[in-house]
Amino acid sequence: MLRTILLGPPGAGKGTQAVKIVEKYGIPHISTGDIFRENIKNGTELGKKAQEYMNRGELVPDELVVEIATDRLLKDDCKEGFLLDGFPRTVFQAEKLDEFLQAHGQKLDVVIDIEVEKQELLTRLTGRRVCRKCGASYHIVNIPPKKEGICDICGGELFQRDDDTVETVENRIEVYKAQTMPLVDYYKKAGNLAEIDGSGDLDRVFADIVKALGE
Ligand code: ADP
Ligand code: ADP
Ligand code: ZN
Repeated sequence: MLRTILLGPPGAGKGTQAVKIVEKYGIPHISTGDIFRENIKNGTELGKKAQEYMNRGELVPDELVVEIATDRLLKDDCKEGFLLDGFPRTVFQAEKLDEFLQAHGQKLDVVIDIEVEKQELLTRLTGRRVCRKCGASYHIVNIPPKKEGICDICGGELFQRDDDTVETVENRIEVYKAQTMPLVDYYKKAGNLAEIDGSGDLDRVFADIVKALGE
């Protein structure tokens, strides 16, 4: 049983570490960004609403996000725990999550905050490539696929996200500072924050996360 959150700026490595965490602990990976991208791909109403915000590098309005996140947390596979990646991103969302957990007699075990300096975030995000089929994340220099443009895991085509352009990335980092960074203090006060240095080798970062989560 493990209930945890991945906090950190865009490009910190949340998605990359999430894949390793859910494999080790056997819990579902819940990424609100992935849910929105899936809805955009399928042309749903939710996708249409979310897309305009995402393309500008802004946050999708709280009411929309809270609803999709709590709906997801109600599914059976979350009974034994979950890893939230990219949610909550505002104090309002964190408060709503607390209310939800309280109403269901649940508590967060640990909140993992992955920190990386801005210059490195820019390099990581503008070089990020994602698999169209399975969502796996690569980097053209840091973590290249074996065959250029092709996913190692499923053979799917790699592409660059619309919001990983230089201009949008700058804005997303500013939005993070203004709206999401207050959550670091929020969870520090709650007493369950683990601060992880996200720079450097991804296996070292993972080892630090496992230390914080417990074996
Ligand atoms: P990153 O990999 O940069 O951390 P995500 O895939 O988590 O990005 O999110 C991409 C975009 O989806 C965000 O820039 C935002 O527009 C939207 N989004 C995802 N999660 C949330 C959330 N919890 N609140 C508001 N917007 C969100
Ligand atoms: P987030 O979900 O926080 O936005 P990602 O996990 O998608 O971040 O990582 C952003 C980019 O940085 C991707 O291209 C990924 O391959 C790369 N990356 C992730 N972790 C590391 C690391 N430890 N060192 C170098 N590059 C990394
Ligand atoms: Zn793939």
